Amino acid sequence: MTDCIFCKILNKEIPSKFVYEDDEVFAINDINPKAKKHILVIPKKHVKSLNEVENFDLIKKMFEAIRKINKQEGIVDFKTQINTGRGAGQEVDHLHIHILAN
Ligand code: AMP
Ligand code: ZN
Repeated sequence: MTDCIFCKILNKEIPSKFVYEDDEVFAINDINPKAKKHILVIPKKHVKSLNEVENFDLIKKMFEAIRKINKQEGIVDFKTQINTGRGAGQEVDHLHIHILAN
């Protein structure tokens, strides 16, 4: 998707350091962290939100990535958050899971 921030980051059109990457998922530090560690776990496929997910294997892959990222980052206690729709605070229309750890 050409006007999507996360697709642009994935395509290196916007510079950002990847905290994690595999064949289906990548992760970056949130630009405006709301916790000591605030990481965004993002599918490489452009899916608008949780409401548009067709194959839930993708969600499984994202949570498997979270386990790996947390191990790598030394995160044990954490929250995850998925905002779906403007009314719930979704700002970027590309599915992502927030990892928040203090
Ligand atoms: P949401 O409100 O759930 O859509 O979350 C979008 C998140 O993306 C927010 O926490 C933003 O701070 C974050 N964000 C927006 N642009 C960037 C960027 N270029 N790099 C990293 N995080 C970003
Ligand atoms: Zn996108």
